[in-house]
Amino acid sequence: MPSLRHTHTYERMKSRKDYFRCINPDCTHFMHKEMMKGKRAICPCGNEYFLNAETLKLFRPHCAYCGKGARRPKITDNMLLSIISPELLRPENISPDGDESYD
Ligand SMILES: [Zn+2]
Ligand SMILES: [Zn+2]
Repeated sequence: MPSLRHTHTYERMKSRKDYFRCINPDCTHFMHKEMMKGKRAICPCGNEYFLNAETLKLFRPHCAYCGKGARRPKITDNMLLSIISPELLRPENISPDGDESYD
């Protein structure tokens, strides 16, 4: 059977902890973690992402959006405000209710 052409979804091998294998039941691909840095992978959620030293420490590497079990700071209102450009928070840029810009 030819090896499948797809982007793999990885899981650490139990017998050889420096290796990750593809979790696809039809795929026999596996690779040493040092060879995987910078490679594309598919997260179990379906997102494509790039493997790095951090994700290769995990039992099942995942994309940046899947922090299952990982400590991920919750986004608070203050954080949102710090992301929004101060320009947008200037009173003159905030339309009051019933502004006069009718079309
Ligand atoms: Zn695969
Ligand atoms: Zn994901």
